[in-house]
Parts: sequence; structure tokens; C-alpha cells
Amino acid sequence: MNTSLWQQGQSISYRAAISNNKNFDVVIVGGGFSGLWSAYHLKQLQPELSIAIFEKEYVGFGASGRNGGWASAEYPTSNARLIKEHGRQSFNALRFALISAINEIGEIAAQHNWQIDYAKGGSLLFARNAAQLSRISANVDSEHTLLNKSQTQDLINIPTAVGGLFTPHCAALNPFALARSLATYLQAIGVEIYEKSPVSKIMAGKVEVNGYEVASSISIRATEAFTPKNWMGNRQIPIYSLMVATQPLPSDVITQIRNFQRTTMQEACHLITYAQITGDNRLAIGGRGVRYKLFSRLSERSEIDNRMHSALERRARSWFPQISDAKFEYRWGGAVALTRRWQAYLNFDRKTGRAEIGGYVGDGVTLSYLVAKTLAKSICNQQVEDLPFIEEKIGKWEPEPIRYLAVNAGFKATVAADLEEKITNRPSILASIIDPLINR
Ligand SMILES: Cc1cc2nc3c(=O)[nH]c(=O)nc-3n(C[C@H](O)[C@H](O)[C@H](O)COP(=O)(O)OP(=O)(O)OC[C@H]3O[C@@H](n4cnc5c(N)ncnc54)[C@H](O)[C@@H]3O)c2cc1C
Repeated sequence: MNTSLWQQGQSISYRAAISNNKNFDVVIVGGGFSGLWSAYHLKQLQPELSIAIFEKEYVGFGASGRNGGWASAEYPTSNARLIKEHGRQSFNALRFALISAINEIGEIAAQHNWQIDYAKGGSLLFARNAAQLSRISANVDSEHTLLNKSQTQDLINIPTAVGGLFTPHCAALNPFALARSLATYLQAIGVEIYEKSPVSKIMAGKVEVNGYEVASSISIRATEAFTPKNWMGNRQIPIYSLMVATQPLPSDVITQIRNFQRTTMQEACHLITYAQITGDNRLAIGGRGVRYKLFSRLSERSEIDNRMHSALERRARSWFPQISDAKFEYRWGGAVALTRRWQAYLNFDRKTGRAEIGGYVGDGVTLSYLVAKTLAKSICNQQVEDLPFIEEKIGKWEPEPIRYLAVNAGFKATVAADLEEKITNRPSILASIIDPLINR
């Protein structure tokens, strides 16, 4: 079973593949949010541009069609590091732009009547032990409010929650529906989309696709974690995130859980977990922890890991005893791209016309929109703000097998840190050792 809930067994009818040599102003490689939003914003700024998107499978095949559906204002790099390395002004500009982008996505979807189950109910990071509570209490700021136990449980009825940190800046949505609706719209305004069309080479002034040459003055690599390995060298690695989803929950269970605003939720543990109640009343929950593959191999087998999927189901039931009878109907997964220092990147070389965007880790739903919008402005010679991801110098990962050993030891240590906190009720000593090494 490896079907994302969002596709719900829809059979995909592929758009045509490319069948002759062609010429465009802009060629985009990758039919996920990065590629689609790039085309969208370029067309907004210069409707006369001829644009083609080449997707090796089908639009939404990658992480964009399979994710947790959080359009959040989260960013992979920590606030402290962003401020230290980019300055307060760039940091503030990023926060404002991300928060605005969540609304813009909702507005664009509403304007075109896309059925993407968008609900802006904010997000809750909840604590289930004293260690988690002390950690979230230290993160109150102008975007985050601390809730006590009863306020937390009034918002979402998680009986074991002892407190929570709430931000209004998050929307839940159906990501596959967003990718597909966006693609249909782009085609209607003249963007050419080719599926089953893997790009084999990106060169200055042209790309090679299915044996044909496609010339363009600008090319955008928007392939994120699904980038062929020889294109990125050691600059990013794929990390798997897995998800499960229940059957639609009966209305009495939904009433018991509360969460009428569809607030997204996450436990304040070290190992990332995230969930939403979907538009059709399912609980969809995801998390990381699947072993990283030697030499950064992408592997469909890593998308299905019975141990990890079962652990997610157990975690969901431990949050919500109300769903103890619910059946889990979907199990799936996908990869996110992690750079050595957790940096998202937008690199555009005007001389060669080549651009690359990505490195969002698990925060790409809103961030890909913002990065693509910023890139479109740069390409169209519009002024852009000084945002941290622009022309970020991406370092290299350590060579194998050091990388393999370190990344997987990191996962193990994260799980151990959560266990340590559960037992001791104190912030993990292990986490305080690994956090600086993880280098967020
Ligand atoms: C399970 C999971 C849960 C997640 N949850 C969230 C979440 O809740 N919120 C959030 O913000 N982020 C989340 N993310 C991350 C988010 O989904 C991604 O950051 C985002 O979708 C990346 O979009 P993208 O367009 O850059 O890449 P992708 O959507 O991965 O698209 C890249 C595309 O490039 C194509 N491609 C690759 N090579 C070629 C080639 N040679 N030629 C042509 N096409 C090619 C691929 O087929 C793919 O379709 C999650 C990711 C996963 C896997």
C-alpha cells in the first residue's frame, strides 16, 4: 500500500510527452509546487513569456502531491541562526513574506475556485510532558501564544496534552488538489506542460528531454529531493517523511476531538511529527525517522516502512483515544531535501540563465511559493527583498560512509532524546548534545 490519501485512487491520465525539438523563453524542470508557482508568477509578471514545464512522471508526483498539507510559516533554519547570519532586517522580511504567502495561496485558490480544502485554523505545538512544556514555553514570541492545559484541550481535545504553543499562521489544505488545479490553470493561460518527460541534461541555453533538444534563455531546476544525484553532487540529501490517514471519522468523534477550525497539530517531541484533520474528516499524520540510504539513494521502498507507519498509527491513537476504533486506510511517504546547514536556496545566474530552487526540508508548501515568486521577480528584473535563501552558498555533506553513519545516528539519538524526556520529565541532555551537531 503506497497511495497517498490525496490521490485517493484517482487514476492519472498523463499529459502528452514532448515529441519534437522546441523553443521557449523559460523551461522549468519539475512539476511540483516550485515549478508550478514559478510558471504562475512569471506569467503574472510577463504574460507574453512562453513557458514549458517538464515533469518526469506527472504533476504532483513528488513531495508536492503527497505532503502533510500544512501551509505554514515555518522555515528550516532556526530563527537565531537566520538573524545571526542574515541580520534582523532580512529575518523580518522573511517572516512577513512567509505569513503573507499563506494568505496569498488561499486567495489565489479562492479566486479561481480551486477545491483544495483550504482552512486557515493556525497550528498547535502541544506538550505531553514537563520537558516538552518547558521547551515550548521558551518559544513564545509575537507569532506564538502559550496556552495552558485547558486552553489547549479546548482547541484540540488531546487528553494527555499539558499545554501548547499556538500560532495563527498556518492553513491546512489538500496539496495534490492544489498542484493539479494550479497545473490546469497554467495550461489554460498558455503554459505548456509535458509529463513522462524526464530532463536528462540541463545546459546553458537548452535542455535535453526524451532525446529532444529544447532551447530556452532561462531554465529553472525545480526538482528538490527528487533531483537526479549527479546534478547536485553532495549538496543535498533526501530524507524520508512518511504518513498515514484514517478513514473519515464519524461526526461524534470529530465533535469529541473538537478542532473545528482544522488547526494543524504537532507534538513538541524531538522527532518531527505533524498532523491535520482533512477536509473529509480524516486524521492524516506524518513523521520522520526512516533510515537514510547510503549514497543518498532515492528508494521507493523507503516510502513504505511498516514499522514506521505502525508507529505513526500508535502515536495517533495515543494523542486521540477517541479514534481507537478508526481504521487507517492510507500509508505513503516521500522525500524532502536536506542541505548540510538546513538552508533553502534560490540560485539564479543571469549570465547562463540557469536557476535552481529547493532545500525546503519539510516546510516547502508555503516556502516553495515564496521562493518561486522571488525567482520570478528576479528573472523579470523586478526589485526583490533581501531574503535569506537568495544566493545561499550551499556546503557539501560529508563523504560516505560518514554521512550515512552520522545522519542515521542523528535519527536514533532523536528517538532516544524523546524517550529520555518521557522518563525523566526533564529536557533531554542527549538533545542538548546533538542539537548543535545537527546544525540547524
Ligand atoms: C510526506 C511529506 C510530508 C510533508 N509535509 C509537509 C507539510 O505539511 N508542509 C510543508 O510545508 N512541507 C511538507 N513537505 C515538504 C513539501 O512537500 C516539499 O518541500 C515541496 O512539496 C517541494 O516542492 P517541489 O516542487 O520543490 O518538489 P517536488 O514536489 O518534489 O517536485 C519535484 C518534481 O521534479 C520531478 N523531477 C525530478 N527529476 C526530474 C527530471 N530529471 N525531469 C523532470 N522532472 C523531474 C519529480 O518527478 C517531482 O515531481 C512534506 C514532504 C513529504 C514527502
